[in-house]
Amino acid sequence: MKKSQLIYQYIREQGAVSKQDIVIGLGLSLPTITQNLNNLAELGLIDTSKKISNTGGRNATAYSYVEKARYAVGLYLNRHHINCVAVDLSGNVISLIKVRENFDLNDDNYLRKIGETVEEVKKDTGLPDDRFLGVGIAVQGLISDDGERVTYGLTLNFTGVTRADIAKYIPYHNRLFHDSAAAGYAEVWDRNDLDDAFYLSLSNSVGGAVIVANKIFEGERRKSGEIGHMTIIPKAGDRCYCGQRGCFDTVCRANVLAEYADGDLEKFFELLETKDLGARRHWNRYLEYLSIGIHNIRMLYDTKIVIGGYVGAYIEKYMEDLCTRVDARDSFKEKSERYLVPSKYKKEPTGVGAAIHMIDEFFEII
Ligand SMILES: [Zn+2]
Repeated sequence: MKKSQLIYQYIREQGAVSKQDIVIGLGLSLPTITQNLNNLAELGLIDTSKKISNTGGRNATAYSYVEKARYAVGLYLNRHHINCVAVDLSGNVISLIKVRENFDLNDDNYLRKIGETVEEVKKDTGLPDDRFLGVGIAVQGLISDDGERVTYGLTLNFTGVTRADIAKYIPYHNRLFHDSAAAGYAEVWDRNDLDDAFYLSLSNSVGGAVIVANKIFEGERRKSGEIGHMTIIPKAGDRCYCGQRGCFDTVCRANVLAEYADGDLEKFFELLETKDLGARRHWNRYLEYLSIGIHNIRMLYDTKIVIGGYVGAYIEKYMEDLCTRVDARDSFKEKSERYLVPSKYKKEPTGVGAAIHMIDEFFEII
C-alpha cells in the first residue's frame, strides 16, 4: 500500500487524529506525513478545520475523513426493475431510486431509461460532478475478468452482451459486475469480523459468493459460488432454467414464496404473520430446503454464512426456526446460530456492492 493510502485509511478508521497520532500509529516520519496530509487535503479527502484540545500545549489540528468527498453509483438491472443507488466513501446509501422497467437490452428506450435513472440519482445526491467516481453495473450473469462482457446470462438470455451495449447512455466511467458477487462484497467490505464467509443470495434467482480474506474468490471460470445449481431434489424436482432438475434455485428463489401472494414478497410475509395456512406450508417447505442448502455450504466452507437477497431481508425474525432445522442436519453438533448471519444491507445490497467496487478502485489510486 502506498504511504498516502496508509495514512488515508488510518484516518478513516480512527476518526479525528492529530499528526502526532499518525506518527505513532504508522511509524512514518513527520515530513512524509505532512506532505501526504497536504496532498489528501488538496484532494478534499480530509478535513483539517477542527482542533483536538491538548492538555498543556496548544491545540493540534484534527485530521478527519470526509465521507462525501467522493461517491459512486451502483445499478442493479434485473428482470423487472432498474435499481439505482448512490453510495458515499463509507458505504452509506445517499440516494436510492427504483424504477419498474422490464429488462430488454434490444429496446433502446430501456437503455435510455438506464441512463436517465443514473442522472436522476446523481442529481438527487446534490454533490458536484468532480466528486463522482463512476457507475458499477450489476447484472444477473457472469462477467469477464475485465468487466466488459457477459459470459453467462442464461436467466435473462443476454450471454455475450458487452458493457458498451448496456451502458450506451451512461457517459461516465463504468464496468459490469455479477450480481451475487456484488451483493456479497457489500456485506464483507469494511467488516473485520467477516474476512471469510459465504454470501447466499435468495433473490429471484439463488446465487452466492465465496469470500476469502475479504475478497471474492472467483474460481477458475468465475463460477465459484454458483450455488443455485446445487442439486437439492434429484430427479423428481422441477426443471431449472439451466436444464437440470431439482436445483437449489427451483426451491429457494424468492418467487417460490412471492407467487403465493400474487408475486409480492412483502405480502407473503404479511400473510405468514397472520398465520395463513398456505403461507405457513410454503414457508416450512422453503426453510426445509434452505436448511439443506445451508448445511451443504457449511460442510464445504466452514465459514460464516450470510443470508442475503430479497428473502434475506426478512429472515432475521425466523432465524431460530431456520437454525433449528440446520442444526438437525449437523454432523458435528455445531450450533448454526454461531455462523448464520442475516445480511446487513436490507436495501439494495447488489447496487451498493457494485458502487463500492468503484469506491475501492478509487482508494487504490489515492
Ligand atoms: Zn439449475
